[in-house]
Amino acid sequence: MSKCRYCNKEITWMKEGRKNVPVEGDGTVHTCQERKDAIKSFKKIEPTTLSPEEIAKYEQAINKKK
Ligand SMILES: [Zn+2]
Repeated sequence: MSKCRYCNKEITWMKEGRKNVPVEGDGTVHTCQERKDAIKSFKKIEPTTLSPEEIAKYEQAINKKK
């Protein structure tokens, strides 16, 4: 079990192809407004030039702010 970094709900990370997808206890994909907003805001910054490492760093920075 881990927690959604955006809303702190308990979720499980499932591998789906090349990306990890957060899944709730009942098996549905987790979505929350906080997560949607965060994804929207980092897509706005650099739509194509961010590497996965840079995105990870950016997400860590968001976590530290909380
Ligand atoms: Zn969430």
